[in-house]
Formats: sequence, structure tokens, C-alpha cells
Amino acid sequence: MDIRELITKSSKEQRKALLNKEVSAVELTEAVYNKIEEVDEKIGAYNSLTKEFALETAKTVDEKIKNGEELAPLAGIPLALKDNINLKSSYTTASSKILANFVSPYDATVTEKLKSNLIPIIGKVNMDEFAMGSSTENSATKITRNPWNLNKVPGGSSGGSAAAVAAGEATVALGSDTGGSIRLPASYCGLVGLKPTYGRVSRYGLIAFASSLDQIGPITRTVEDSALLLNVIAGHDEKDSTSLNQTPPDFTKDLKNDLKGIKIGYIKELCSDGLAPDVADAVQKAISTYKSMGAEIIEISLPLIKYSIAVYYIVATAEASSNLARFDGVKYGYRAKDAETLYDMYVKTRAQGFGDEVKRRIMLGTYALSSGYYDAYYKKAQQLRRLVKNDFDNAFKKVDVLISPTCPHTAFDIGSKVEDPLSMYLTDIATITANLAGLPAMNIPVGLDKDGMPIGLQLQADCLNETKLLNVAFKLEEAVQFNYSIPSMAVV
Ligand code: GLN
Repeated sequence: MDIRELITKSSKEQRKALLNKEVSAVELTEAVYNKIEEVDEKIGAYNSLTKEFALETAKTVDEKIKNGEELAPLAGIPLALKDNINLKSSYTTASSKILANFVSPYDATVTEKLKSNLIPIIGKVNMDEFAMGSSTENSATKITRNPWNLNKVPGGSSGGSAAAVAAGEATVALGSDTGGSIRLPASYCGLVGLKPTYGRVSRYGLIAFASSLDQIGPITRTVEDSALLLNVIAGHDEKDSTSLNQTPPDFTKDLKNDLKGIKIGYIKELCSDGLAPDVADAVQKAISTYKSMGAEIIEISLPLIKYSIAVYYIVATAEASSNLARFDGVKYGYRAKDAETLYDMYVKTRAQGFGDEVKRRIMLGTYALSSGYYDAYYKKAQQLRRLVKNDFDNAFKKVDVLISPTCPHTAFDIGSKVEDPLSMYLTDIATITANLAGLPAMNIPVGLDKDGMPIGLQLQADCLNETKLLNVAFKLEEAVQFNYSIPSMAVV
């Protein structure tokens, strides 16, 4: 296979070519950089490249292949890293002006794991500033475009991760998901995106947005790649006290199980009103496909979903206002130059360093936490969050997996929602409840709408049930046969 085509394939096909010595890891990595050179001016996925380091890793892989040594399953497979995950000695900016010159002094735990698995890290990819957004338009760096249609957003906040994988500028990527930021861009770009159970993956070295919601997870072309990358990053980490003290299973082990007798619930509130017609059709088709595989389909009502956006935007902004207090011009990154007093320096640094959306969130969160309003907003939100979790607990007594669309519509036009934050927040309606409840959830592509844009289906399982989730996703992927390599052709 031509190497230009090979870089648009799954890790499985690339590994086969590596082991058969049809290509070397260095050639594969170089081909990805050539692709970046060719298309990234149009796509805008990368904030910075780490070429020397990636090629060094690839070289080590080639030596191991030459010596017939055992190779980790994703060794030599080019990866894009979201720019809020630390990679030692390279820029980690969270796509914010306030961190524009920040060079990380240490590796995140996930980055260490990528390194020990010899996965070449191609570079750091664009995102909404501090992961706040659904379109990657809130980046202080640049706009990232959707490889399927350059006038559309790639989704957010991990839009750079998704665009890079969709355009052949990386084979797999890591993103972070606080309210849907892995699943939404995966849905808009025709990819598989997985938010693991809260605590499954260490967040040590991830720039915190909302600590009770954030999770790191894979964005890939196939479900199997998602399982393989989760195998690399999952596990307890003593540097992150919220990481679960549990040995993770092999996430690839149940992929091929048949679905006879499995119970799949479709979420009534997300599968009826307000869906784009093509999205509604795709969900119905997925339901019939599952039925034909012997799954039992059950309607599940989660009436509290209607409050979830309000709950999320109070909890997430409250936590963000506290997490972002550390960016004050003293310890990290940007410092305003024209300040006269220390206080003045704090104020000017934050006023100049943060973008509008980040300021909006800090103000909202500070307000929700302030005395006099705390009970009315933050406490109420936490109480409702518990009730949302209870609803899911009850649902998972009846079904194994829940399905819904990932988003009521497909990717929207660049610029069409930036002036209207509320309509941007509504894109998260289907995804944020998984974060509120800590559940594992994923997007898988199930088809294209009438304009040729990818449609995503969301699957959710009970906590720690990723193997079941991946199994149900894998079987649908097999049936749908989604052609994920189309967009790389679209942009050449
Ligand atoms: N779109 C949501 C927000 O803006 C979720 C972001 C995320 O998951 N990081 O907060």
C-alpha cells in the first residue's frame, strides 16, 4: 500500500506494514509530517510540532523491529497530543495567551506511558482555550477547520485532536473530556472518541478545567484502536489521588463478543424532539441493526436531562474559577508588562491573558460560589447532579448500554454560534450527563448527513464497564463499515 494511503488507516494496518517491513517507523512518521506540511495550513490542527522527538522514538522502534524484539501494540503509531497535556520540554499552552510561552518541566502520567510504549508524539494540537468550548473557535492560537468541510467546525474542545486524525495528520490522538470534548469532535469528524470512567485514567499533568469532571481519552479511527490506546493510558497513579486503585482489564478482550441477549436502552429524551432528520434516521437505523444482532431494545426515560446543561455550567464554571486562580503572572506563562503594583499585575495579566469565554466562565463560577448565592446555585447543582447519577444507576439496573445521538445535529458552520454562547452550550445536551455521573461514554460514526457530514452515535455504560461499551461499539462499527478515510482525500 502506498504510504500516503497507509497514514490514513488504522493502527492495526500500520503495525502490519511495520512488522512486515513494508515501511519503517521513521518513514511512517515522516509521511505524517509531509501530510502536515501539505494540509495543516488549511486545517490548523497543530499548535506546535515535536519532530525531533517523534523521529527519535520511531528510530528506536525500527531498531527493535530489526532486532526482532517484542513491540508494544501501538509502538511506532503516530499520535497527536492535546495541548493541555504536559510533554516535558515542549510547549503546553492550553491554546491560551496566558500560557503561550509555557514550556512544561515534566511529563503528564499519560505522556510517560506513551513514551514507554514508544508511541511517536507528533506534536501538540489546538483546542478551545482551557478546554472551554464545543467548536475550537475559542482558541487564542487559531481556528481549526473540519477536514470533511473546511467551512465547518471540527467540534471541541479537542478539535485539533479530531481534525488531525481525520486529515491523516496523526493516526490516533489524546483529548480531554469535561462535558463532551472528546465525543463531540469525534462525532463531527467521523471518528471514534472515548471518555473513560472518571478516575480510570490519571490526570496528573493535565491542565485542570473542572476537576470532578475531567477525563483524558482516545480519539481514533476504529474501536479497536480506541481499546488499544486505552490499554496504554489506563491505570492507577499515585500522583493522582482521584485515579481508581484498580487494575484495568485488557480492553480489547471482549470486542468481538456477540450481542445476543444484551439490553440496549435508547434515551427517550435525546432520541425524539429537536434532532436533525438525518441524525434521527441514523439513530433509528442503529437501533434496528442492534435488534437484528439479537439485542433487546428498551426505552429509557431520563427526565432530569433537561436540567443537565444548567447543572453542568454551574459545577464546571465553579471548579474552573478555582482551578484557574493559579494563572496570575507569578508562577506560569504570560505576565503583563505595564503594571505598577502587584495587584495591578494580577489584574492586567488576567485581563490580557484570558480570552472572552474563559473570563465569562471565571465570572460565572465565582458568582455561583460566592456567599449568599452558594446555596441557591452551587449546592442546588450538586444536589441535582446526585439525582442525575441516581437516574443512571436505575437505568443500568435495566440495561447494559444506553444509546442516543452524540449531538442533535452535525458539525455547524464556523462563526455561526460564537456570538451566542447559550446555543453553543446546547450542543452538549447529550454528552455532559456522562461527566456529571462519571460514566464511560463514546462516540462512533454511523453515517453521513445529506451534506456529507459525519453523524455520531453515543454509547454509555455503567462505571468501569468500558469493555462492554467497546464490545457494543465494535459490533456496530462492523455492521456500519464507516469509511473514515474520506476526509483526507477531501482536503488534498
Ligand atoms: N463544551 C463543554 C464546555 O464548553 C465541554 C468542554 C469539555 O468537555 N472540555 O464546557
